[in-house]
Amino acid sequence: MAARAVTSPEMASADPTLERRVASTPSSDPQTRAESLATAARALRAAEYVCILTGAGTSAESGIPTFRDALTGVWSRYSAHELATPDAFARHPQVVWQWYASRRATVRAAQPNAAHRALVALAERVSHCTLVTQNVDDLHQRAGSRDVVALHGSVMHARCSAGCAGRIALADEAIAEIPRCEMCTAALRPDVVWFGEALPTAAFESARAAAVACDVFVSVGTSNVVEPAASLPWLAASHGSTVILVNQSMSGQRRGPSILPIEGPAAVLLPQLVQAAFANKRPRARGVAPE
Ligand SMILES: [Zn+2]
Repeated sequence: MAARAVTSPEMASADPTLERRVASTPSSDPQTRAESLATAARALRAAEYVCILTGAGTSAESGIPTFRDALTGVWSRYSAHELATPDAFARHPQVVWQWYASRRATVRAAQPNAAHRALVALAERVSHCTLVTQNVDDLHQRAGSRDVVALHGSVMHARCSAGCAGRIALADEAIAEIPRCEMCTAALRPDVVWFGEALPTAAFESARAAAVACDVFVSVGTSNVVEPAASLPWLAASHGSTVILVNQSMSGQRRGPSILPIEGPAAVLLPQLVQAAFANKRPRARGVAPE
């Protein structure tokens, strides 16, 4: 099945032991970061359709810890499997619920950073843009991005554990009692993709379609090693797209003539990239996203 997760995507960048490492090739690319950035900027400026894929590195500078790094304090005695599987929720629903309540509190206390804002500016300056994220926070939406394709769900929502269409936004992270589904009265569960679960089919198909159709694919803050999301940039490259990789490390990333690695923090490099690409280009007329 195309959308079957190899590991829990929601834990993707959290536990390297769970990741399927792709052998990295030696760093023989003669391009400097500045050259890559200039080439990437030209590709973006010429693009009609841009697809963006973001991962944990995009939210790191907003202070959002990875799943594993959040396992501190009272949570340090739990493993990921005790907090992020359907079985864990069946056996210890309150523990799992409280874990996600603590993560919601962290997200609510955080603010979007310059990388999130640069992606809003980018979307406003190309004809068509699809933003796909592996993050389960809501920082893209709060920065002003629209129609975000959330591959791994959202800690800010709960959905029916029995599988009906019931889904609610969680307005208060301190909800102690697990809410019931308004449609069928089953318990609601965090609306995230857990260990071994498939990605939401519609979201993954949207992401695949965007990867195939785009002129430029921008991968931000992800090492692209956890399938199936990891296949998206290479799918784009195989369909003729230029692939721009912005990440702290290029370990595990593929190389190729149409792949432009730009190594460093997203919150620094993305604003530089968007500025270089669109220095004098005004946002499209559909309006400016709210701050
Ligand atoms: Zn239900």
